[in-house]
Amino acid sequence: MKSKPIVLPMGAINGTILRPLGLDRGSRTHFEMDRIYGDWTLDGETYHLNLFDLMPLLNDDNGFEYVKLTDIAWKGFDMGMSIRAENCICCNGDRFVNCDSTKPGILLDGVKNLEGRRYRCLDGKHRIEALLSYGIEYGNFYVLTLDQIKCYLYR
Ligand SMILES: [Zn+2]
Repeated sequence: MKSKPIVLPMGAINGTILRPLGLDRGSRTHFEMDRIYGDWTLDGETYHLNLFDLMPLLNDDNGFEYVKLTDIAWKGFDMGMSIRAENCICCNGDRFVNCDSTKPGILLDGVKNLEGRRYRCLDGKHRIEALLSYGIEYGNFYVLTLDQIKCYLYR
């Protein structure tokens, strides 16, 4: 059994201020039936996740990997470009234009995804779209498992 991570305010972990991903208290992802993006539930169940809670897991010892972008499912990956990238329907393209594609994203391994893709994107879909627009095929990601994040999921 894992010991509970020490989480201090403002992304300080064990006394060190860390905000490597630009996550803040409001960064969340949703496992749900979405009216635009379709079925992003976890086996039919709806959950929410505050990405900031994952910060203690995000370090170089924890599955920091170079992943092929076509192995990742992110909201919109299976849809037309009229609602992706600079036309992104979630942000009108602003987050795509302003993202820092050098920051690693966060992926979940070991859950069922649309089109059988191995990884589910928890954070970084605008960065993935940016990398694709540069013709880049791989990116850096933290890869977590459902076991690791289960305790942070809420309904
Ligand atoms: Zn967007």
